[in-house]
Amino acid sequence: LYSLAGKRVWIAGHKGMVGSAIVRRLRSEGCEILTTDRKDVDLRSQAQVEAWMTSLRPQAVFLAAAKVGGILANDQFPADFLYDNLMMEANIIHGAYKAGVEKLLFLGSSCIYPKFANQPIVEEALLTGMLEPTNEWYAIAKIAGIKLCQAYRRQHGADFISAMPTNLYGPGDNFDLNSSHVVPALIRKAHEAKMSAEPTITVWGTGNPRREFLHVDDCADACVHLMKVYSDDSHINVGSGDDVTILELTKLICDVVGFPGEFVHDLSKPDGTPRKLMSAAKLRSFNWKPSISLHEGIADAYRAFLGGEYAMRA
Ligand code: GDP
Repeated sequence: LYSLAGKRVWIAGHKGMVGSAIVRRLRSEGCEILTTDRKDVDLRSQAQVEAWMTSLRPQAVFLAAAKVGGILANDQFPADFLYDNLMMEANIIHGAYKAGVEKLLFLGSSCIYPKFANQPIVEEALLTGMLEPTNEWYAIAKIAGIKLCQAYRRQHGADFISAMPTNLYGPGDNFDLNSSHVVPALIRKAHEAKMSAEPTITVWGTGNPRREFLHVDDCADACVHLMKVYSDDSHINVGSGDDVTILELTKLICDVVGFPGEFVHDLSKPDGTPRKLMSAAKLRSFNWKPSISLHEGIADAYRAFLGGEYAMRA
């Protein structure tokens, strides 16, 4: 068992949705929380990352820094998704090795798995088939991150682990319609349609794809748990173990928001992979399961949208 108590813990990417949830979760762990600002340390710069790590000497690292985005953003900015993510991972993982970091958790994504992997997707499905083309840039970078953790463990005995969260949502999400994921996009669309009494909202694609969702606070809790109990070469899935169709999700969001209207499908937008449900069996075997239902979680995300992000942007 690895203890975080009294440790200097760096959360790389603390301004992001996952990083900020990990910071909230760590407040009850009795550790010293270290963060870096984009203006002080560009995580894509090896020199800046290594200088910072050598002087601040973190003992544990949560690698939650990433360039992220939804299905459209991935398609439009392939160079950014590949280059930025590769550089950040390589700099932080190699820097952690050089600075003698005791434990590092790298966060990936469920899109590392083959497009047509058997469902629910077990960890062993990695690299058994072609990726979903709309997000392969991001996926390739995340697969490289897993391999870096494995390689440093193998060659140097470093205790670096990788967790692959499913689609996450919650406070701190990106509500920009061109780059967001489906949950924040539909929350925003339903809210704005309700406020302006529009009769419909637009749902991208057919609504038939199935997706699994996890509230970011559950994800942060799982990451802190894994930091303590998990020490293995292989990555581990972090999900709820359940999925819904995009249509079911849309109905749930409209219900939570109180938008009574109908939806129309924009079939010029991609569906992406038909189904993406990860096996939660391995995570369950390490005695963790989520505590926030999709309904409660969406209600919480809507409250966060009303209280924070949206108010600030508007
Ligand atoms: P993915 O899980 O990598 O495919 O990423 P997304 O969360 O962006 O999309 C999930 C699914 O929701 C896809 O089938 C999208 O076409 C669908 N979807 C429906 N409406 C929207 C929307 O307004 N925004 C986004 N991003 N996806 C939408």
